[in-house]
Amino acid sequence: MPDPTSCLFCRLVAGELPAHLVAADEYCVAFLDTSPAARGHTLVVPRRHVTDLWTADPETAAALGRSCATVARRIRERLEPDGLTMRQNTGEASGQNVFHLHVHLVPRWHGDGNVGWPWPPPSEHDPDEVLRLLQPEPSDSLIPRTPG
Ligand SMILES: [Zn+2]
Repeated sequence: MPDPTSCLFCRLVAGELPAHLVAADEYCVAFLDTSPAARGHTLVVPRRHVTDLWTADPETAAALGRSCATVARRIRERLEPDGLTMRQNTGEASGQNVFHLHVHLVPRWHGDGNVGWPWPPPSEHDPDEVLRLLQPEPSDSLIPRTPG
């Protein structure tokens, strides 16, 4: 794990670096991206240093999801975009370049075409095969089961 004291987002969360804060609560902080893909491009990060989605504990992931929904609604109310792209990169291969878990919220307008979305499909892509691989096992659930 990288040293949190040298992590860009940890320093930003700690107030050691300037940021355009959009929102903050006990668990997460949202601020404008310094290299925005669109007007209002916002990053939402957990306060606690977590490298990526693969290493996030369930509570941090849940708090991040709630914060993203809250900030996304605010972006809609205040900026009145036609849509919004929510993007999270985990791992260098995905384009992650700050290794502190963060989610991009990018307001979208008809015809903006500026965030590389949609990506071109991979050359070998069988959606049925992908679906088979991703379908849940009977024991899988995104919602924790209550005993009994
Ligand atoms: Zn960090």
